Parts: sequence; structure tokens; C-alpha cells
Amino acid sequence: MQAALLQQLSERYPEVYGELQEADCGDGWFAILDALGEALAYCAEVDNRHPPQVLSCKQKFGRLVFGKLHLPLQDRRTFEIATAMSLRTCEHCGGPLGTAQVHARCVCSA
Ligand SMILES: [Zn+2]
Repeated sequence: MQAALLQQLSERYPEVYGELQEADCGDGWFAILDALGEALAYCAEVDNRHPPQVLSCKQKFGRLVFGKLHLPLQDRRTFEIATAMSLRTCEHCGGPLGTAQVHARCVCSA
């Protein structure tokens, strides 16, 4: 992911993405990471706690993975939704993927 997009995530959700040095995935997943940051920050605010830090983020086997994290159940579910969305979203352009697609990119990359 472009450094400029990573910078945006870091500025919007500093507690979540402030320590993330790189996201080894395409720009098409920016919206998923943006929504993840918002959801994690919101849940933490409601519960009066700090949100989890995302320290590692990459594409693996066509899905977004975040490395090992010890998390409250609620946050774990939030990460699972982000991973599920990545399987339905083109890593390159952010467009929808068909259900039969096995790669993280749609026909846009041709
Ligand atoms: Zn695409």
C-alpha cells in the first residue's frame, strides 16, 4: 500500500495505526482498513479502553491478515469482518470480486 494512504490511516486512527510501518497489500483494501480503524476506535471509546494497535498487515492467500494479536472477543470479530471483506474486494482497485474468484484481484489488473 502506498505510504500516503498508510499516512492517512495513521492520522485518522493514531492509536490503531500509529505504529504500523508498512501494509504489504494493495491500495484497493484501503477502505477496509479505514473502516477497521473506525470500528476499533469506536468500540474502544464506548468501552472506555484503548483500541488494539495494528503492527502487521499483509495479503496472504488472497486475504488480509494481521499477525498474532491478543484481543478482546469483540475486537477479534471486528478483525474477522475485515478479513472477510478482503476476500470479497479486489486488492488492486477495491472493486467487488465474484464468489468463484480465488485471487485477490479482479479483471482490472489485466
Ligand atoms: Zn480490481
